[in-house]
Amino acid sequence: MAYQLVIFDNDGVLVDSEPTAHRILSDYLTELGYPTTLEESFRYFLGNAGRNVHRVIADRYRGTLPDDFTARCHDRVFAAFREGLAATADAGAVLTELRRRGVPYCLASSSDHAWIELALEQAGLRPHLPAELVFSAQDVNGVGKPAPDLFLHAAAAFGVDPGECLVVEDSPNGVLAARAAGMDVLGFTALMPAERLTEAGATGVIERLPQLLERV
Ligand SMILES: [Mg+2]
Repeated sequence: MAYQLVIFDNDGVLVDSEPTAHRILSDYLTELGYPTTLEESFRYFLGNAGRNVHRVIADRYRGTLPDDFTARCHDRVFAAFREGLAATADAGAVLTELRRRGVPYCLASSSDHAWIELALEQAGLRPHLPAELVFSAQDVNGVGKPAPDLFLHAAAAFGVDPGECLVVEDSPNGVLAARAAGMDVLGFTALMPAERLTEAGATGVIERLPQLLERV
């Protein structure tokens, strides 16, 4: 079908931020006495670190994290982003091609605007994604994925029905959010096993971003 809007997740889909974010998260948890490998951080927290990290530490270690854990973790991630952050392979080229074809697109991320802005800037994607194409969970009272609110908000901003949207997501939580919003969703398998995304309800999977261009 001809989609009227393509909605991209940011972290792990347009910007290659997850290795950095999870290296910092796993190192920080380890430093606090909760030994966590990079692989465990991906498995437990990719796409839902904000709430899940406190729960997992409570479940696995009967532990608690400092009140300022999230803020200090963000400070460390921001410092690392400032040292360098790449776009995912072909992200800029895919956005250019969508624009050339006249297919509207936007970004919808559970991260806050400061995180998204810095990531886009550092990855060189800012020219493709001016502020009016960027939506954060902050725009829907902090209600992030897997709730459908953010995706519904983005579709409404474009005056497009949810059923005419195609979402690109790399986390099960993001896939769940898109399905709850009544949208088709391609699972991007660069970092996440395809079966975890199809189990969550992905309507298709792609290994590389340019494969998206065959679906729109
Ligand atoms: Mg993601």
